Formats: sequence, C-alpha cells, structure tokens
Amino acid sequence: MTSSPLPRRVALISVHTSPLAQPGTGDAGGMNVYVWQTAIRLARRGIEVEIFTRATSSSDAHSVAAAPGVTVRNVVAGPFEGLDKRDLPAQLCAFTAGVLRAEAAQAPGHYDVIHSHYWLSGQVGWLARDRWGVPLVHTAHTLAAVKNAALAEGDTAEPQLRVIGEQQVVGEADRLVANTETEAVELLSMYDADADRIDVVTPGADLECYTPGSSAEARSILGLDPDETIVTFVGRIQPLKAPDLLVSAIAPLIKDASASGRQLRLLIVGGPSGSGLQRPTALMDQVAELGISESVTFLPPQPSDRLVQVYRASDVVAVPSHSESFGLVAIEAQACGTPVIAANVGGLGVAVDDGRTGVLVNGHAVGDWTNALEKLLAQPDRLAELGRNARRHAERFSWEHTVDQLIESYRHAMHSFAAQSDAAHAEAEQAAAQGPGGPARVRR
Ligand code: UDP
Repeated sequence: MTSSPLPRRVALISVHTSPLAQPGTGDAGGMNVYVWQTAIRLARRGIEVEIFTRATSSSDAHSVAAAPGVTVRNVVAGPFEGLDKRDLPAQLCAFTAGVLRAEAAQAPGHYDVIHSHYWLSGQVGWLARDRWGVPLVHTAHTLAAVKNAALAEGDTAEPQLRVIGEQQVVGEADRLVANTETEAVELLSMYDADADRIDVVTPGADLECYTPGSSAEARSILGLDPDETIVTFVGRIQPLKAPDLLVSAIAPLIKDASASGRQLRLLIVGGPSGSGLQRPTALMDQVAELGISESVTFLPPQPSDRLVQVYRASDVVAVPSHSESFGLVAIEAQACGTPVIAANVGGLGVAVDDGRTGVLVNGHAVGDWTNALEKLLAQPDRLAELGRNARRHAERFSWEHTVDQLIESYRHAMHSFAAQSDAAHAEAEQAAAQGPGGPARVRR
C-alpha cells in the first residue's frame, strides 16, 4: 500500500490564513498552528515544505524562508487588508493563478504532493493536482454541515456555497485527512466521502513547549493573584466557541465565592473572530451587565511562550464550544497538567478523557455548566488528580505522531495516484492504437 518513497517536496495550501499569523483572533486559530507545527516537522524529516498563503500586507515578501526547509509563499490575490473571509471565493482564481505561476517557474516535477487545508485551499489544490499530475491530500479542519447542525443561538449559518465547495473537494481529493473518527463518520454521512480514501490523523500539541510548571510562578509572570481560583477560556471570541455560556455559567459561582470571602476569577484569552467581529465588545458588555467585571480578566491573544504560563496559572481550562473538530487548546492545557471542562462535542470527546483528565458536559444549558463547574471546583484533591492524569493523556497527542501519520497518507496518495496514472496511460495508448485520442489524464 505505502510502497511509494518519501515525498521530496510538499506544497501546503492555506489560502485564508498564514501560519506566520498570531493565532487566537480573526481567522488565525488552530489551523495556523497545525500547518506550522506539521511543516517544521516534515522539514526536519527531510521533506521540503512550501506553504502558499494569501498576502495580507503590502510589506509581505513574495517568499519567506520561515524555518529550515520551510518556505512561505505570499500570493497576491485581492486587496491586502479588509477582505472578509466570505469574499475569498471570488479571489480563488487570482490565488490559483499565483500558485500555478510559482510552480511553472520551477523545474518540472517540483512537488510530489499537495496538501490543502480548509475547503478554499482544497479548491485550489483540485486544479493544481490536475495541472501538476500529483496527488491531492485534503484536511477540512471544519465542515460547514457539521457547524450548521450545531449553531449557537443567533449565530450566522455557513453558506450553501461552502457546503457545495467542500463536497466538490471531498469528491476530488486523493486522500482525506480527518482529525478524529467522529469527523471521518461526518465525512461519510454528510459528504458521501469514499471510506477507502479517509485517513484519521489526530492533531497534537507541542509537548516541549506545553509542560507542567509552577502555578505560583506563572501567576507572578502574568500579574495574577496567587490565591484566587482561576477558570480560563483560551480561543477566538466568537459564538461558536461559547465564551458567553461560560460567563453566564460562572457568574453565580463568582458571586457566591466573593460572598463567602473567597475569590474566583475568569480569565479570557483571545480576540474577536467570525461573527463575533460584528460586536467585538459583546462579551465585555455581558460581563459588565452581570456585575462581575472585577472578577474577569481579558487578555489579548498570547504567543505560545506566554500561553504556557496561562495554562499553568489556571485551575481549570474551559472549552464550552458548540462545535469543535478537535480542540488544540484542550490538549495544550492538559499537557501543562491542567484539567479541562469541555462540551461533549466533536473531537473534544477524544481530546478529554472524561472523568480522568477533565469533565465532559453534555449540551449547553447554563445550569448544567454552573453545576459541573461548581462540583469540580469544590474538589481540589480531584482537580490535582485530574491534572496529573492530564499530562500523561496529552502525551498521546504529539505533532511527531501526527507527522508520522501524515507522511503515510502522502505516500499512500502517491502510490494510488501513480497506479491510476499508469492505468490511464495504458488506456490512452490503447485508444491511440485504435484511432485519434486525447492525452492521458488522471480522472476520478
Ligand atoms: N492560541 C494562541 N494564542 C491565544 C489563543 C489561542 O496561540 O491567545 C492558539 C492555541 O494555542 C491553539 C489555537 O490557537 O493552538 C486554537 O486552536 P483550537 O483547535 O483550540 O481552536 P480553533 O482556533 O482551531 O477553532
């Protein structure tokens, strides 16, 4: 099955967000971390990586040597700034032209595999696959049909245009990388994917960066009180991630705590994103309306070397999302020895070992979340035990393991693509022997 050699060079396509952007706000999140962490590790294994992304500043260099063996190519497609993600489909032609021209300037056979991230990139990869004669591996990261089935109240549904676009990529890609078995089932049931072409590859965490450490030291670095109990939300502030649910659920606990002379703090790290951009102050307004502003700290998006201190400083990290393809924050927090309370949706059921490293809450009823938080925070010994188990659990999710599996997926794609090409050539030769015919092309 995987008799193909290692690819020499991979074209990673990430149209809508650059791996060099700070995650935690706007369009930059887990996908950026995924693309970057896998790219640098592929390069360390001797596989060169070129990442195509859309230029978002006139000062973006055309090509950036971002790490040994990793080049970021900033493709000009549409205005640098102010282009809404919903308007990106109109720029796909310009983006694809930039990608094809970059390849045309290289010696033939420059790339062995294309790996597209998110459906917009899948559309680009689809055409590049046919032009370059190399296989396309696609990771959806999120699926519109899944998102739309679990929308937060008042949130904007993903357009049908995206569902159709995703469907096309699912039909055209040589291999589909799903984050979890759950996502594989969603690809099968909602997108009619071919089961034989799906590889389940779990994402990971940087286990060298995210390690357990002194909470007191972390709080001192972040300027947080050493004696308070701290519950933390880390991520893009948008309805899908349900930070508003967490605020509503923790408000009565904050009030009870301060009435009995204890201090409970909610720490919120991240910036507005998605439909949250329409009302960027909504969460702060909610906190003020509930009268808990003094017990809630907002921090802007943090780089990983600060985020590790955030996780260490926290007693519990909460991930209340309505939908989550995996949930890197949950693994990173556990890698730092911090238990996680998470919604029992999507990949979070894999990321959190319910009852051993944290707690999974079914549904999004505020009362259920208040009860679950109250119960957890009332048991410091249990929290400590969950935290100890959390690090061990997180160690099962390393980026090294992700890259091992991605390489297998690439080799599998190369092998089956070569077999299809051989069959197509044989068919074309036979047709030519019988009369006029067109060139052999790999078509599904
Ligand atoms: N992140 C970060 N700084 C922040 C907030 C988030 O670097 O202030 C990173 C975080 O470390 C994680 C990613 O953003 O790797 C979020 O990934 P997740 O899968 O939790 O959510 P997504 O953004 O993919 O919806």
